[in-house]
Amino acid sequence: MSEYRNHKGGKGSSDNECCNFCGAKRSDVDLLLTSGDHRLNICSNCIAEGYRMLVNGGIIEPHAAESSRKRKSEFSAPQTMDELLRPVQIKEFLDRYVIGQERAKRYISVAVYNHYKRLLCNGAKLHNSDTAADGEVEIDKSNILLIGPTGTGKTLIARTIARLLNVPFTIVDATVLTEAGYVGEDVESILSRLLQVADYDLEAAERGIVFIDEIDKIARKGDNPSITRDVSGEGVQQALLKMLEGTTVNVPPKGGRKHPDQDFIRVNTRNILFICGGAFDGIEKNIARRMNTRALGYGRVQTDSVDRNNLMQYVMPQDVRSFGLIPELVGRLPVLTYMEPLSREALRSILTEPRNAITRQYERLFEMDGVKLVFEPSALEYIVDKALEYKLGARGLRSICETIMTDTMFEVPSSGEAEFVVTADYARRKLEKNNSGALLKVV
Ligand code: ADP
Repeated sequence: MSEYRNHKGGKGSSDNECCNFCGAKRSDVDLLLTSGDHRLNICSNCIAEGYRMLVNGGIIEPHAAESSRKRKSEFSAPQTMDELLRPVQIKEFLDRYVIGQERAKRYISVAVYNHYKRLLCNGAKLHNSDTAADGEVEIDKSNILLIGPTGTGKTLIARTIARLLNVPFTIVDATVLTEAGYVGEDVESILSRLLQVADYDLEAAERGIVFIDEIDKIARKGDNPSITRDVSGEGVQQALLKMLEGTTVNVPPKGGRKHPDQDFIRVNTRNILFICGGAFDGIEKNIARRMNTRALGYGRVQTDSVDRNNLMQYVMPQDVRSFGLIPELVGRLPVLTYMEPLSREALRSILTEPRNAITRQYERLFEMDGVKLVFEPSALEYIVDKALEYKLGARGLRSICETIMTDTMFEVPSSGEAEFVVTADYARRKLEKNNSGALLKVV
């Protein structure tokens, strides 16, 4: 393929050459690519359109063709209602990557849609102002709290949403945060990271998504005021309040501790969507207690219709409060939903179905060595059995596969074999050989 860089009569080609797709003349476009046999041309506009179609169709990842260096133009926000993806479309995109979790996906699709409607509605009127004009309805933020066992896809959902929306996205671990002035990271460091991801494009960062993981680990330690300050628990919750609600924060651009001589970037968090996730181990007890109390008193629930094996589905904001999140924080996370423990069928699908399914990843790795890798169905069943046994959700799948495949990955590249078949028997032998201690290391 040869390239005719245009500029109106540029490098060696005739003026009457035009794009075979849209008919644009060479002199009207920035770039005209010509096929090797000089019979076909395509202009830069059609190439860009093709790229957008590939991205929108999910055929390539949005950034796959971009250089790793992030540019300001990389992040774009919808400007009109027509450009907004509808909840059904958001969920369809999630379906490609996240197996099961129907309820969570629906809740999140609606929350994200409302978030962006809110940006359109409030954005134009309220930009750089902290109050709504008189009589205007200002739509509240729809920050999300995702509750569910580890390895069920909380991070995956947040990451997938950010990929779809083409907004800066960062994951922070709530356990490293401490109240200002104590050892650990200030909550402002969350925004430093978002800025870094957005390549310091402030406007993009201010529309980004932050996933705060392990939010349950900053639960209040107990109901009794203690003589020592709870600097990593309640102190952090207090510090997060304003940020979640929407305020202007002075952020040290490089992260780390604030100090007086530093330059700050002022970040407005009003339009940043916060998604918090946590396992909330033991919250079922709080749910059961609440339901039992209600079973006796006013507002009785039909206790015999309660599914005792999956109490998480009845989670309410008051359970999260009794778990130790302060009411103000719970109030700022109005969308509360839960992740189901992954069933046998879901785990089996996760192994093979999503675009970047674990077995597909191994197949690709082997393909690069010229080896065809085949997982027998019975081997897949065995891996699922073990993942259920270890109770690590989909994370277990990955670590089990890694344990099973390590020897093979060591030997096969130099063995000259054209095909490698993983049988249930092979998987069992490898897993038994590499004991469970080794397994836990990979998790
Ligand atoms: P969590 O945040 O709930 O602890 P993650 O989202 O980090 O769990 O999941 C860990 C990995 O397990 C993901 O990268 C993904 O490969 C896989 N996984 C977990 N849940 C799902 C799911 N529902 N669908 C597809 N893959 C999943």
